[in-house]
Amino acid sequence: MVDLRGQHEKIQHELNSSILKVIHSGAYINGPEVLSFANKLGAYLDIEHVIPCANGTDALQIALMSLDLKPGDEVITATFTYVASAEVISLLGLKVVLVDIDPDFFGLDIDQVKSAITSKTKAIIPVHLYGQGVHMETLLSLASEYDLAIIEDTAQSIGASYNFTNGSMKMLGTIGTIGCTSFFPSKNLGCMGDGGAIFTKDALLAEKIRMISNHGQKVKYHHDLIGCNSRLDTIQAAILEVKIKYLDSYNISRQKAATFYDEALNRLESIQIPKRRNESSHVFHQYTIRVLDGSRDSLAKFLKKADIPTMIYYPIPLHSQKAFVSDRYSFGTFPISEKLSNEVLSLPMHTELDDHTQSYIVNSIKEFYTK
Ligand SMILES: *Cc1c(COP(=O)(O)O)cnc(C)c1O
Repeated sequence: MVDLRGQHEKIQHELNSSILKVIHSGAYINGPEVLSFANKLGAYLDIEHVIPCANGTDALQIALMSLDLKPGDEVITATFTYVASAEVISLLGLKVVLVDIDPDFFGLDIDQVKSAITSKTKAIIPVHLYGQGVHMETLLSLASEYDLAIIEDTAQSIGASYNFTNGSMKMLGTIGTIGCTSFFPSKNLGCMGDGGAIFTKDALLAEKIRMISNHGQKVKYHHDLIGCNSRLDTIQAAILEVKIKYLDSYNISRQKAATFYDEALNRLESIQIPKRRNESSHVFHQYTIRVLDGSRDSLAKFLKKADIPTMIYYPIPLHSQKAFVSDRYSFGTFPISEKLSNEVLSLPMHTELDDHTQSYIVNSIKEFYTK
């Protein structure tokens, strides 16, 4: 599905010297690379405050912790996402309120978000799934109408931009109250282990987030808040400092690979290629097709026999997961997500795909439908 070795070989010398520098420095925790990477990411995203942390799940948890919510307060997110976006809500004793997604762009169904808002709703977590933005403009107006915080989950969409109707543009993750991302190796900006970051333009929130991620302290051994221990390792920051220079070119390679798939697959009746939103660019963390005729699993099996890996993101919506069982939901509550979980198939997508490999993949798909 990904070729990280191929990606890293091209910048091997830079990575080696960056990593060796850390090894020689001895500053393995909170070394200078952590701050310089945070500054580079802030400049790239055009956002004032970037707080690196240990992983994307921690980023979401710390973001929620900074909002001073009370047990029982409600947070709305999508049922069709990676578990982390909802898990952290429950973990903090808050109430997860799930909604369905829109079938074209895999983002929160905004009408359902609106109907799910109660007097206890305090925040919304839009997940910019597969690399494309949720309709943020409507979400922002809902948030201001009901005084809600928005925590953007940008784990799959770092580097994607969003156009507003007034002509202005912002990077995904910098539009809501707080943005979160992950540097898991296979993400669009990946390190060689775990990593994550939190961004905000609000200085007070930034200070609080910094404290929470560091045991609730600003001054060593003075713990003003209950926090946690969530740090980006210096070695990972040093790797990311090299790789962030290439993020735009990585995303362009993904977009090029997506266009190749689009052109080859758009005439197949059984397949719905990913739709692009006008408002948001798409950085294709995943290239996810919908297989409309019920043949998804047999197509995946056929491709596997041809040595072509595929993945299903995600096979079971959260409202059908044991951990999230609730009398509020049953089978049928969110029909779009249930249908999509039987239709989606993610094809190999990474920065090192070449025409030869992609031709082999699309020809195998065509072969499946003509046999
Ligand atoms: C990867 C991912 C996360 C979690 O990131 P980790 O670094 O693995 O903790 C959260 N949300 C989404 C949508 C993701 O894809």
